[in-house]
Amino acid sequence: MVDLASRIRKIPDFPKPGILFYDISTILVDPLSFREAIRRIAQLAREFRPQVLAAIESRGFLFAAPLALELGIGFVMVRKVGKLPGTVVSHSYDLEYGSDTLQLADGLVAPGSRALVVDDLIATGGTARATVELLAKVGAEPVGAVFLIELVGLGGMSRLGVPARSVLQFPG
Ligand code: AMP
Repeated sequence: MVDLASRIRKIPDFPKPGILFYDISTILVDPLSFREAIRRIAQLAREFRPQVLAAIESRGFLFAAPLALELGIGFVMVRKVGKLPGTVVSHSYDLEYGSDTLQLADGLVAPGSRALVVDDLIATGGTARATVELLAKVGAEPVGAVFLIELVGLGGMSRLGVPARSVLQFPG
């Protein structure tokens, strides 16, 4: 039995003082842990009956790709500005200081399809919330969100506007 919670490396004061960084590199490097992480995210994801996954750059990609294969559905990449070719749809959202923008290729998600947001970790929920908004803008139906790690103390899950589930919970 793999103890996923203890496999995650916790690095204090990264990327800035006062932040405890939850590093999933120690999951990815260990095949049994990675396999178990995907198995457990898939268990949660199936409940949403998704037709497509929306993966958040960049660590969300690492989990969404094997998850999509496991579920037998596709995934789309939600990226920072300027990374996607062709026509894109954008959504800007506020950060603690300033704002950020996420983009998704236009016409990639079939209108009305049940889309599930995937990321490695939810903190304040700002990034996942913006992804939910983006999915709605392209005509998909955002049905929920799944994460490997939830920082419970930051209350991000309640800000998404869709139901959300996490495999592991930490105080944050
Ligand atoms: P938020 O928008 O506040 O929910 O932040 C979520 C995004 O930032 C995710 O893509 C995470 O990968 C990353 N992130 C935020 N806080 C942490 C943390 N303490 N450790 C690792 N990644 C984090």
